[in-house]
This record gives sequence, structure tokens and C-alpha cells, in this order.
Amino acid sequence: MKKGRIFSGMQPSGKFHLGNYLGALENWVRLQHDYECFFCIVDWHALTSSYEDTRRLPEHIHDMALDWLSGGLDPEKNVIFVQSHVKEHAELHLLLSMITPLSWLERVPTYKDKLQQLGAQGKEINTYGFLGYPELMTADIILYKADTVPVGEDQLPHLELCREIVRRFNHLYGEVFPEPQAKLSQAPLLPGIDGRKMSKSYGNEIPFAASPEDLRARVRLMVTDPQRVKKTDPGNPDVCTVHTFHKIFSRDELDEIVMSCRNAAIGCVDCKKRLAERMVSALADIHVRRAELEANPGRVREILAYGAERARQVAAATMEEVRQVMHLS
Ligand code: ADP
Repeated sequence: MKKGRIFSGMQPSGKFHLGNYLGALENWVRLQHDYECFFCIVDWHALTSSYEDTRRLPEHIHDMALDWLSGGLDPEKNVIFVQSHVKEHAELHLLLSMITPLSWLERVPTYKDKLQQLGAQGKEINTYGFLGYPELMTADIILYKADTVPVGEDQLPHLELCREIVRRFNHLYGEVFPEPQAKLSQAPLLPGIDGRKMSKSYGNEIPFAASPEDLRARVRLMVTDPQRVKKTDPGNPDVCTVHTFHKIFSRDELDEIVMSCRNAAIGCVDCKKRLAERMVSALADIHVRRAELEANPGRVREILAYGAERARQVAAATMEEVRQVMHLS
């Protein structure tokens, strides 16, 4: 017996990184055993902030499918699909846009923040689509009548808005949609190699698909305790990015690593080498699975087509109901 139905999506940016894996995908891999899951590559969402040049979108979608499948999502257990393959997302988005006051969208805290942030990078995103991002997200979730949505803290206002839209719809036309609940991710934020939050916008990421050589090179660049200038200086692991990664990848020898750092028995170069080898072996199976899938792009296309077919069945049934209660059928 499943605990409920989950919907979750990610934008295909072509830059899936280790933070995305440890902060989101790994959690999905766990959830797939207990919930009925719809995992969606949300390509229309990617257009809300990057619409000028869409030429690489197919490549990015394919890459994201590789990331998810090699990371451990099972295409039989879950419905894995691409948003734009299921046109019902657009129809429901349109209908919801009729009942959503503009002020609800404008007051979402991430809206103004991102508008400013991306505007400063020279992006023109004062658009209808960008404002409507959480509206589209609402359509995505409720199209499958998902009752559970795994989110990070920053996504909570979006989910609150989704619930408000659901209440309004149900009040106007009848009880069609459940109010989805947030399932907060426990994963702490992973830092990038410069110590700030790992993010594609900062260019400090370790790509999830990084080869062993690439992984070693990125780890070599990681910032360490700035007070530790010479190898003989004692280090402070609490302020060291390498240590944050050791906590994840070297749990069984952490005490020894911490001590060796504090009493300067190990230098940062060697400490990084140890980490890099730990990471290479932890990610080895994922690399093998990725290489297999890369060698067979037809298989990935088949998986996405199969997912879209299954998603479409659920989406079509929901839209039948929506059209009926809105007297559109
Ligand atoms: P980015 O910050 O690189 O743009 P996204 O906003 O596309 O990443 O995030 C996609 C998913 O990955 C979200 O669920 C987010 O919470 C998670 N995530 C992103 N960066 C990190 C990080 N540094 N540590 C943990 N989780 C992260």
C-alpha cells in the first residue's frame, strides 16, 4: 500500500550538479519505494526565465533523463516524463490563470527576488510567463491530484499559493482537487567549491556527471580553512568545505580525519586526495549506469515516451472532470 501520490519536477538546465543530487534526487530515490511518484522534466518552466535561445533544450532534457536514471530513479516504479509531452499541463494552467488574482502571484517572495537578481544579470524577464511560474507549478501538481510534494524551504510559498488556488477552484466549481501537502527535505544545503551554496548561478558546482579526473580537479580547487597557511598549522574543520564533503562521503573515518586536521598530521592536499577518492568510488556505480544509458539514447527516448503515455492517461481523466465541472465539455 502506497503512502500517497507525489509530484515533483526539475528544470532541464543542462547543469545538474551534486547539490541537486544530494539535496533532491537522492530523496526522490528513497521516496519511490513508498509513494506513487510522478517525476517531471519541466521544460516549459525552463522557458520562464530562459526563453531566448531554445536550441539546446532537447540536449538538456536528454541529459536530465540520464541524470535521473543513472542516479537511481526506476522508470517502471515511477512515471518519468517531460512536461511538454503532456499538453494538459497547458490547458489546466490556462484555466487556473482565469481564477488567480494577480496580487497572489506578485506577492510570492521569490518572484521579486528573482526578478531583481536575474534583471541584474541582464535578463529581460518582466514577462507574463515568469510571473505565472507558480501557476504552472500548481497545474503540474494538481493535474495528477498529487497529495504530497517534496520541497525545499524556499519552495514553501509556492506550495501555499498552490493550495490557495486549489481552494478557490474547489469552492467555485466543486471538490475536484486535493490540497497538496509539503514534504520538507531534510538535506542540508551543499556548498560549492568556493564555500557558498552550490548553485549553477555561481559557477561553483561539481557536475553530477563529472568524470573521476574532473572530480579530482574540482576537489583540488575547494576552499579550506583560510587561517591554515602552512601544512604545520593546525586546521579548523568547522570552517572547511572539504570537511563538509568528508561528512557525507567519509563518515566511517571522520573522527580520524578531524583529528589529523586539528593537530596538523595531514595537510590539505592529502586531505583533498582522500576525499576525491572517496567521491570517485561513491559515484562509480552511477557513472557505470550513465555510460550504459549514454550508449543507448534510443532507450532513454523510449522511457520518456512510456512515461508520457502513463502521465497522459491520468492527466486526461483529470481534465475530463475539470471541463465537466466548468461546463466546458
Ligand atoms: P540551482 O541553485 O543550481 O539553480 P535549482 O534551484 O535548480 O538549483 O535546484 C533544483 C533542486 O536541487 C531543488 O530541489 C533544490 O532544493 C536542490 N538544490 C539545489 N542546490 C542545492 C544545494 N547546494 N544543496 C542541496 N540541494 C540543492
